[in-house]
Amino acid sequence: MAPRLILVSNRVNVPVAGVPRQAGGLTVAVNAALKQREGVWFGWSGKVSKEGETPAASVILRRRRTYITLDLSANDFQEYYNGFANRVLWPVLHYRVDLAEFTSVDLGGYLRVNGRFADALSPFITPDDVIWVHDYHLLPMAKELRARGHNNPIGFFLHIPCPPPDIIEALPHHDETMGALSHYDLVGLQTDQDADNLSRYFASLRGANQRGPGSFEFDGRKVRVRAFPVAIATAVYARAARNSVKSTLVEELRNSLVGKRLILGVDRLDYSKGIKHRIQAFGHFLEKYPEWLNRVTFLQVTPKSRTGVPEYSAMDQEVSALVGQINGRFGDPAWTPIRYVNRSYSRAMLAGLYRSAHVGLVTPLRDGMNLVAKEYVAAQDPDDPGVLVLSQFAGAAQELTGALVVNPHETEGMAAAIKAALEMSPEERKERFQRMYDHLAENDIDRWAERFLSALGETREQPGLLSSLRQLFAVRA
Ligand code: UDP
Repeated sequence: MAPRLILVSNRVNVPVAGVPRQAGGLTVAVNAALKQREGVWFGWSGKVSKEGETPAASVILRRRRTYITLDLSANDFQEYYNGFANRVLWPVLHYRVDLAEFTSVDLGGYLRVNGRFADALSPFITPDDVIWVHDYHLLPMAKELRARGHNNPIGFFLHIPCPPPDIIEALPHHDETMGALSHYDLVGLQTDQDADNLSRYFASLRGANQRGPGSFEFDGRKVRVRAFPVAIATAVYARAARNSVKSTLVEELRNSLVGKRLILGVDRLDYSKGIKHRIQAFGHFLEKYPEWLNRVTFLQVTPKSRTGVPEYSAMDQEVSALVGQINGRFGDPAWTPIRYVNRSYSRAMLAGLYRSAHVGLVTPLRDGMNLVAKEYVAAQDPDDPGVLVLSQFAGAAQELTGALVVNPHETEGMAAAIKAALEMSPEERKERFQRMYDHLAENDIDRWAERFLSALGETREQPGLLSSLRQLFAVRA
């Protein structure tokens, strides 16, 4: 029997007939992996069950896919999701140990929910299935599934950064969470630096036996560590951007600029995104280069996220206040330097905003990849492309070599890069764009999924596994 692919992630995005899909990066990645293949997507439904209700699994069949979802109890949601995943793992893995709020209750909730997920998934697994687990919410999933007797090939992909071992070791009981990654066959990371950090951490674990670069053995179990930089659906994005110019939103935006240049930032409200630093740098740009006063508009699109986590509400107020200060200082009755919007837009709308922007300002303090940077490039008009200003601390900076790379902690450098981007010649803009677009067209999301699954197939000396995986996932030569 051909292997079936089981995708496991924190949230499952079940398609609803007639409702356009709000596809985040992970949904796009999962869809690429499951593309026209028989498969299962398993995870949290996004719902919190009422008190006293026992959360049950729902199984939904859509075409050749099976969606299996679980609700979380209010305690699970608080401890596993808000608590351990978002208030401990997220900051620590983004190098912000100072923001981590560790409690053993939250760690207990995290391990409990991983165990419950494994219990619920276990009956659906057949020996031929290949399992691919996504992201930091589910680090111990392979360990839990192995404990339930499943010897299937299990891969893991970490969408966020992996810091060096001394930062991971600041995480209390890290061996139960990050250390549990050693139970997978293959661990995929965003960049070579992340893969190197995890390899050094693995090498420090008790019982580790390093067999070669990124290749380990723990109690006879083999595990590989490798970088697979996550990608986007490049051609789909480029098409959406071409079509988007007809939309009312994009037309209204363009008209409202009355000839001013547009600088665009798009980020969830999150301290890892460097929004405050960016706004400060824009203020510095206006101060240092007054010839640009009244000639440029900075649109920062920032949907709120994780409103249940206190660090996020504090940041919300801080950013709003800073925008107000800069607009108050530099604006005039006919010109607002910064437009700050707390709304989220569909992919089609966003593609149009990207294409309208002369400068894409993507300056996270730390980011696993940053899909916005790649989407901005894919959405440009090849005959008149905008310029990407990109943080050296985004995983995307390893690939997008045509960007102006900045250090988000250096206000003056960022202000100078904004000026250079606005004043760049059309020839240089085109050359930089083409280099990046060609890379994104060659390395799109389908290719990414194929590469990961092919590498997962190679981890087992199971006769026929790799060739049947190749057949199933139609790996390109
Ligand atoms: N996004 C969106 N609508 C918005 C803002 C963002 O669909 O209003 C999408 C964006 O297109 C990108 C994703 O959200 O695909 C953000 O991914 P990224 O890697 O940049 O950051 P993350 O939020 O995952 O940390």
